[in-house]
Amino acid sequence: MVDSEVLSGQLLANEIDVVHESAKRDHNIVVVNTCGFIDKAKEESINTILEQVELKQRGKLDKVYVTGCLSERYRGDLESEIGGVDAWFGTMELPLLLKKFDADYKSELIGERLLSTPSHYAYLKIAEGCNRTCSFCAIPLMRGGHVSRPIEELVKEAEKLVRSGVKEIMLIAQELTYYGLDLYKQRRLADLMRALAAVEGLEWIRLHYAYPTKFPMEVLDAMNEFPNICNYLDMPLQHASNAMLKAMKRQITREEIEELVHQIRAKVPGICLRTTLIAGFPGETEDDVEELKGFLERMRFDRVGVFTYSHEEGTSAYELEDNIPAEEKERRAQEIMEVQQEISLEKNQERVGKVLKVIVDKKEAGRYLARTEFDSVEVDNEVIINTTKRLKPGEFVNVRITKAFDYDLEGELV
Ligand code: SF4
Repeated sequence: MVDSEVLSGQLLANEIDVVHESAKRDHNIVVVNTCGFIDKAKEESINTILEQVELKQRGKLDKVYVTGCLSERYRGDLESEIGGVDAWFGTMELPLLLKKFDADYKSELIGERLLSTPSHYAYLKIAEGCNRTCSFCAIPLMRGGHVSRPIEELVKEAEKLVRSGVKEIMLIAQELTYYGLDLYKQRRLADLMRALAAVEGLEWIRLHYAYPTKFPMEVLDAMNEFPNICNYLDMPLQHASNAMLKAMKRQITREEIEELVHQIRAKVPGICLRTTLIAGFPGETEDDVEELKGFLERMRFDRVGVFTYSHEEGTSAYELEDNIPAEEKERRAQEIMEVQQEISLEKNQERVGKVLKVIVDKKEAGRYLARTEFDSVEVDNEVIINTTKRLKPGEFVNVRITKAFDYDLEGELV
């Protein structure tokens, strides 16, 4: 999404009329920015390319270009199997893609993006690539090693975003905690957070995708120091059985993860912890799944997402036999989510009667949908507000929680 926003910003600066997704069908060129990291994403990317090629064949488009991770990873195969695409580009070839539009890459535009999110929030990509070696993951193959962006550049970008109306930014990278090691020879995520927290008008900053091994605890100090850094941490753990963690090459044990979670909660009481897990990794036994479920029951994470394992060429796990059938992977994922569903409901019920500050996202079916500092965009809970008062997206209001559901809350304005 951020890459598309950067591409669109560059096109716009070259006076080319650009929109993220046009429902009007008054465009003549389409750039498909693909994802290629798991099977479902690849399928969606290929379907989108085929749809656009068909439109071109029916004379509705002049050109179709394809860029992004799928194209980086499988360009040769795609070129020979899908006709009708005018040119394919890898993840590092933005200047070449711009040339097709007779446009120049403008380096002075660093941080200029045409946002595709509502104007009150944005993602801020603080680094590209990953130096980890998780056995299931194809991302380093497509994105290369970790490259941090300088703190000053990120602060400038955040200031620009705030000037354009952004109130909340989500820090993203393939792996947040490595930030700084390449560029400054030390981990500097906490310094970056402090610098961003000082940006006037930036009301919420939240952290996504933090690797647990050697987690930089000073990040939590920064979280405690600044009210505009959300007490929120998204830390993908992938599994909790030691056999699986080892096979996944996560460089951490279940015991170490449990200790880390206790330390994080002791340092930032009330922090919202989100994690994501993988079900059906090669060799995963029923015992491993039981161990994972027991871990979730003990740890009581606030938010959990589960993906089914995708067998990816070029990864070290590809050497293993993908021995769990797709339906069984789905069944396990669902079983794990059922454990979390109950925890989520109980945690939501604890909020009933409390007054929470929320940011209004949108109006839908006569009600407003908002989020607390403990909820990120799209992946987490929403707070439903029933009111006759007019609220604006991006507005902060206080809401008394009146009802709790599995994954959402309902409340009234106070
Ligand atoms: S840390 Fe994340 S992006 Fe990096 S290899 Fe592991 S799963 Fe992939």
